[in-house]
Amino acid sequence: MPRHPERLIERLAQPAAAAMIAATKVAVVATGSVEQHGGHLPLGTDAFAASSIAERVADRLDTLVACLGPVGVAHYHLAWPGTLSLRPSTLAAVLVDVAGGLAAAGAARIIVVNWHEGNTPTLRLASDEAQRMHGVQVVIAESHVITHTLFPQEMEFTHAGSMETAAVLAYDASLVHLDRVSAASDRSAGEVAHGLFRRPDVYPVLRDFHQVAPTGWYGRPELASEERAEQIAEAVADHVVARAREIWAALADAVPADAVPADAAVRADGTAATDRAHR
Ligand SMILES: [Zn+2]
Repeated sequence: MPRHPERLIERLAQPAAAAMIAATKVAVVATGSVEQHGGHLPLGTDAFAASSIAERVADRLDTLVACLGPVGVAHYHLAWPGTLSLRPSTLAAVLVDVAGGLAAAGAARIIVVNWHEGNTPTLRLASDEAQRMHGVQVVIAESHVITHTLFPQEMEFTHAGSMETAAVLAYDASLVHLDRVSAASDRSAGEVAHGLFRRPDVYPVLRDFHQVAPTGWYGRPELASEERAEQIAEAVADHVVARAREIWAALADAVPADAVPADAAVRADGTAATDRAHR
């Protein structure tokens, strides 16, 4: 079961898109980044990776995908020309507005499929706002974290290494050019430096990716293969759907459906919202 571009909302006619959302009450949103990934991977690696997983998730749920656009929050890669970055407030505004459109079409649940660490804090804030404004329930799937966690030896959590190379191979193998690979930074030094920013308890905030990899990337892209990449993308999509269903079931048990008003539980100012017309 390869990619499913037919699930992308912009490729669907309005009646078909509306019917999918109305029938399932679920929609998928994809978020990535346009940033340097050495000489062998495209700038849109994270955007393509997110779309690849999101399309597969949408197919399993028989619904559609709205990509927020390829660009994410990646200012710490701007030292490499060609990288693009949104202000966090811009990405947040797009997510909240897109969630509003999906909610208006009947989506009660949204799965955000992300493939970029730099987006995560913004997505959490924006999802909180979308839930309060639009009455949707959002789950965030960190598809890069899932890929590494499911296949820790094979899918290294580096930048532009085996995991990201596999992600692009599963999207469009013609975009991977291992013959154009540029100088890699030292892998063990990169892992140690990256690890500082990934600590869960006391951690610094990334300012410039030179702090992790002086040449912009590190890892072993040569470990990825097209055949395994496809199998791995499928396994990641299965995992996202299984975990989302687990969460929905658990939350449905915790809060009766009629305990939260259909439009929104709380207004942005924290007061109860009971009437859409008054907001
Ligand atoms: Zn990346």
